[in-house]
Amino acid sequence: MKCDVLTLFPEVLEAYLNESILKRACEKDLLETRLYNIRDFATGPHRTVDDSPYGGGAGMVFKPEPLFSALDFLRDDGEPRKVILLSPQGRPFNQATAEDYSRETRRFVFICGRYEGVDERVMTLVDEEVSIGDYVITGGELAALVIIDAVTRLVPGALGDEKSAEEDSFSRGLLDYPHYTRPREFRGMKVPEVLFSGNHRQIYLWRRREALRKTVEMRPDLIEKFDLSDTDKKLLKEIEEEKV
Ligand code: SAM
Repeated sequence: MKCDVLTLFPEVLEAYLNESILKRACEKDLLETRLYNIRDFATGPHRTVDDSPYGGGAGMVFKPEPLFSALDFLRDDGEPRKVILLSPQGRPFNQATAEDYSRETRRFVFICGRYEGVDERVMTLVDEEVSIGDYVITGGELAALVIIDAVTRLVPGALGDEKSAEEDSFSRGLLDYPHYTRPREFRGMKVPEVLFSGNHRQIYLWRRREALRKTVEMRPDLIEKFDLSDTDKKLLKEIEEEKV
C-alpha cells in the first residue's frame, strides 16, 4: 500500500506509523506513507487554512486553496492516485473495503478534514468519500490511520503469519473465536480442556461454535447475511439448546 496523507497534524500519524506491524511493513516496503502538512501549501503571512462559513453558522471551514495546491503538487509526478476524503458523510469503511483497497494499484491520497469540514468544492478532487463509522470525531487523522492499518494487515507479508488476518473477525463473515494463552489456570478461571486435546477437528469445532455464539450475541445482523454450512447449523442448534 502506498499513500500520501494530507493533514494539519502529521506528528499524530507519525507516532502510530512508527510502531509495531505498520513500522515493520514500512521497513519491508509493503507500506509507504508520505505525510504532508497542509499548512505548507497555504499562503499569506499566517498560512491560514480555515475561514468562516458563507451563510453564517457555527465553526470554521477548511479553505479550498491549500488542498487544491497540495493535490496539484502531488499529481505533478504523474503517478496514478485514488483520492479519499475522510468524512462522516462518506461510504462506511469495512473489512470488504479494506480487502478492495489492499488490491488497489494506485497510490492513495487521504485528505484529513478538520473544523466543520472542507469547502464543498474540494469534492471535485475526490474519488471517494469514506467514513469509519456513524459518529463524528475531531479530524480525519484517526480515520486515515484506521484505514491504513486495516489495509496493511491484508497486504501479503505484513503479518508474521498470514492466517492471522484470514481468521480475524469479519474476514470470513463471522466474529473471531476466543483466544487463550498461558497460564492454564488464572484466578480460578480455566482454559477450556478441548484446547489441550491435540484433536484438531474437536478444536476447530469448538472454535467455530464459539465464533458463531459470539456473532449471534453481538452481531445478529452478520449471521443473517452469512451462508451457514450444515455443520454451522448443527452448532447453532447446540447453542440454542444450551439456553433451555
Ligand atoms: N460537520 C461535519 C459533519 O457533521 O459531517 C463533521 C466535521 S468533523 C468535526 C471534522 C473532520 O473529521 C471531518 O472533515 C473528517 O475529515 C473527520 N471525521 C470526523 N468524523 C469522521 C468519520 N466518522 N469518518 C471519517 N472522518 C471523520
